[in-house]
Amino acid sequence: MNADQAPTFDGGCTCRFVRYRMASKPLFVHCCHCRWCQRETGSAFALNALIEADRVQVLQGEVDVVDTPSLSGKGQKIARCPKCRVAVWSNYAGAGDAVRFIRVGTLDEPDRLPPDIHIFTASKQPWVVLPPGTPAVAEYYKTSQRWPKESLERRTALIASGAQR
Ligand SMILES: [Zn+2]
Ligand SMILES: [Zn+2]
Repeated sequence: MNADQAPTFDGGCTCRFVRYRMASKPLFVHCCHCRWCQRETGSAFALNALIEADRVQVLQGEVDVVDTPSLSGKGQKIARCPKCRVAVWSNYAGAGDAVRFIRVGTLDEPDRLPPDIHIFTASKQPWVVLPPGTPAVAEYYKTSQRWPKESLERRTALIASGAQR
């Protein structure tokens, strides 16, 4: 895909100090129903768009990175606005610094990125009714089995570049 024609997605925090842009569509979008995401959002689930870190441009402001415990035990780094403290993305130990988990709700048009998969549905809130047609798994999944071909190719390129540890 020509980068000039790639769709972009802008977002930011609540006080508008931090503004960012995703330079292309994401690799994959998770709707995570795990207890950790429920606690961290104070809600029923988290919506994360996974994208290569070098495709996220900070347009304005800067982020404060907070080390936070995670389900895996390896921790996550949550990037927050230093003023209003809203979280805009995370990096998890598994994917390293090369992949950002953008908080879809911080996009200006979050409707553009519905979930590609529902994960950790074992702890889904019982009143959340999942739509038919979107894959759902009790815990996690194998990337090679679920991501579209184009995203797997991007992942291969990312690993080859040495960016993913
Ligand atoms: Zn802010
Ligand atoms: Zn989760």
